Amino acid sequence: MHLQALPSRQDNYIWTLSDDAGNAIIVDPGESAPVLDAARSGLKPVAILLTHHHHDHIDGTAALLAQWPGLPVHGPEDARIPFALDPLGDGDRLELLGTSVHVLSVPGHTLSHIAFHLTRDGDGWLFCGDTLFSLGCGRLFEGTPDQMHASLMRLAALPDDTAVCCGHEYTLSNAAFARAVEPDNAALRDRTEEAKAMRQSGQPSVPSTLAEERRCNPFLRCGTAGVKAAVEAWSGTAPRSDIETLAALRRWKDGFVA
Ligand code: ZN
Ligand code: FE
Repeated sequence: MHLQALPSRQDNYIWTLSDDAGNAIIVDPGESAPVLDAARSGLKPVAILLTHHHHDHIDGTAALLAQWPGLPVHGPEDARIPFALDPLGDGDRLELLGTSVHVLSVPGHTLSHIAFHLTRDGDGWLFCGDTLFSLGCGRLFEGTPDQMHASLMRLAALPDDTAVCCGHEYTLSNAAFARAVEPDNAALRDRTEEAKAMRQSGQPSVPSTLAEERRCNPFLRCGTAGVKAAVEAWSGTAPRSDIETLAALRRWKDGFVA
């Protein structure tokens, strides 16, 4: 399978996962133009996956349906999505292009946010929208820290070499915050340098792998003594649980200026 991140809008990615013939799963088309461009080079959409209702993830869908009538659209059940789709919830499974698709409910950024874990022949891809980013996580617009923590822990439990395909190119700004939290984390320093080099050469800094995120992403490291100590130093209060650590980390990040 071939994975591609199509840059869209300011800093979104529309992900495509395609087979050798160009048949492609399209994830979170926040606009249609990048997909229509790719189609001119041979990409043939066979299904659309949507992670959550935000405009920058769904707004290209109608134009793609106009171009490819009957294209199946799979996404969360949410009245704020203004077109018909096949509603999916936690634990649902489907087959697309020979991959097994497993749906996980991951509330936090929004309440109906879902993630897609695709596997085929030992390879794995996680399309996690705005829940997990490389070195960061989504803002808590609708959910609680409790929900986001549970969602992130479920994603973090997927296999090490899973490709983390997130919805935005936020890696470098997330890295600045992560480095403030864990200045001595060598894996994080290496990942930051790697991401800088990729961006400088015009490449996406993603996907990362889940193993990498577990080593470097402070929001997946709320159980570590280092992250707890950093949160305590910032807030003046020792967090009493991993959830409190995550809640404080998110507040800290929301006001963080690199
Ligand atoms: Zn969003
Ligand atoms: Fe987004």
